[in-house]
Amino acid sequence: MPAKPTSNPNFDMHANTPSWLRRCGAALESIALGIMWLGLPLAPVFMALIRWDIAPLRRYPASWRRAVAHTSQLSRVGVIRRGVEQRFAPRGEAAYRIEGGCTHCGQCCVNGLCVFVDFDAEGRSSCAIHGKWFFRWLSCGVYPRTQRDIDAYACPSFRAVPPIAAPRRVLTLKVER
Ligand code: SF4
Ligand code: SF4
Repeated sequence: MPAKPTSNPNFDMHANTPSWLRRCGAALESIALGIMWLGLPLAPVFMALIRWDIAPLRRYPASWRRAVAHTSQLSRVGVIRRGVEQRFAPRGEAAYRIEGGCTHCGQCCVNGLCVFVDFDAEGRSSCAIHGKWFFRWLSCGVYPRTQRDIDAYACPSFRAVPPIAAPRRVLTLKVER
């Protein structure tokens, strides 16, 4: 069995993120997570509405536990903070090319704990709300955009390739004597 890839905790493509942006990201994340924690009793209702499926309400206790695990992971991985930084950070990450093909391990779905991730008998992940209106609001819909994204979840399948520097032209000057 191949060794499970591990994320590099020292890698930070946003090392140059301005401190004001980091503070804004942290503040917005605190507010969003606070609302989510307070709204946990209603989480199964939202899950049912967004999935357009009554099942999360029928299994209320299990749905609630999933919502707790999901919210805890959002905080641990810093999903909201990273999303804010990436949205507003003025840098040229777009120049990086993302290479690879998804193997549906489910790690980028909040470490497999998103309330909308399902796993089949072979352990392959799928998103219950893929393509729905709510999905378009989520940063996971465009995962991965950066190496930081990839490292955050130790994605085993993608990598960010830096742009290849164009070969330098050498001009030969002919000096007339
Ligand atoms: S972590 Fe990578 S391989 Fe796994 S589901 Fe996400 S994109 Fe696919
Ligand atoms: S792709 Fe779907 S299951 Fe995965 S994190 Fe996003 S919403 Fe959740």
